[in-house]
Amino acid sequence: MDLYEYQGRALFSRHDVPVLNGGVATTVDEAVGLAEKLSGQMVVKAQVKVGGRGKAGGVKLADSLEEAREHATNILGMDIKGHEVHKVMITEAADIDSEYYFSFLLDRANRTFLCIASTEGGVEIEQVAEESPDKVLKLPINALTGVDEALAGEIADRAGFPADLKDQLVDMIVKLWNAFVGEDATLVEVNPLVRTPEGKALALDAKVSLDDNAAFRHEDHAQLADSQADDPLEQRAKEADLNYVKLDGDVGIIGNGAGLVMSTLDVVAYAGEKYNNVKPANFLDIGGGASADVMAAGLEVVLSDADVKSVFVNVFGGITACDAVANGIVGALKMLSERGETVDKPLVVRLDGNNAEVGRKILTDANHPLVTQVDTMDGAADKAAELAAQGA
Ligand code: GDP
Ligand code: MN
Repeated sequence: MDLYEYQGRALFSRHDVPVLNGGVATTVDEAVGLAEKLSGQMVVKAQVKVGGRGKAGGVKLADSLEEAREHATNILGMDIKGHEVHKVMITEAADIDSEYYFSFLLDRANRTFLCIASTEGGVEIEQVAEESPDKVLKLPINALTGVDEALAGEIADRAGFPADLKDQLVDMIVKLWNAFVGEDATLVEVNPLVRTPEGKALALDAKVSLDDNAAFRHEDHAQLADSQADDPLEQRAKEADLNYVKLDGDVGIIGNGAGLVMSTLDVVAYAGEKYNNVKPANFLDIGGGASADVMAAGLEVVLSDADVKSVFVNVFGGITACDAVANGIVGALKMLSERGETVDKPLVVRLDGNNAEVGRKILTDANHPLVTQVDTMDGAADKAAELAAQGA
């Protein structure tokens, strides 16, 4: 999960990384109310989960309450690279002597943590790395030994940070490392990390990504989730504990087991080439147990996707045998219509594996008008694609 700057900044604050006073607002009046509590020059910053806000006009300095009001008015509602601004942050402004870059991140390709530091901050680090790679320090960090003051000092020296700032930077680097590990982050980035004319080091921007797989260790992280930014179907699926990813095609996909669902996406995309290029509309793994409840929850999510024209239920019976899954499907369809949900899209069901014959018979006997059975995966994918093309 990526955090907004104001959330990252609060997280920095909790770990004693030096930031300036401020707050976040959703309306102009609220923003001015915050500005009234600050002294001196202020900065008004668009809160969107995308970089380059400065260049896009989403970061403005204000010398008075009137200017703060003007900037908040202009920035709220602004579109930055396709992200609409719903919140602004107002903080005290820093005078800037130099801008640096600093980050800790999870380097997946090299299976290590990585520190990136540069004296060339305030611009995108990719650009610095391309134009002057010698000015970018990249140092793998051993996950077991981490970053202590000695290593932080080495980082500061090797990055070329000024000697008179070293004590402050060592302190800040260790605190950023503690925040990175303590919060189970995959990225903690400060760009710019600045030096003020008075010789003080400050974090002026905060970009933080948290590892969702570690969410269970951090009860307080759930409140950081941004329901506004999530797809509503993904939101519903999450509430039902389903493994669902929305895609942009027409054939709804439900399967048991991530591997099977992945290959189902492939065969449907392949079959779809014949039928006007219809494509899978989602990934949905209902897991090993496919009770009527889970099947109903899955069908409900997939059927409420307006883009879905047909649904392919692809099940390989294992510990949960096909008869249980077939009963699940019949029960789910009954449950949905009793609840008044509209079930009007054709379903193609392929059952194979443990107790497939019994399962198929259950579906045949139920004789639901929307359900078609096909015994092979390729055949069923073809049928589902054909039906989606007809419904489109
Ligand atoms: P980004 O463009 O989305 O990365 O947003 P940043 O928070 O990094 O801000 C962009 C630029 O605005 C920074 O590189 C600074 O040059 C400038 N800026 C941000 N905060 C301040 C501040 O407090 N004082 C001054 N003088 N400039 C600031
Ligand atoms: Mn920045």
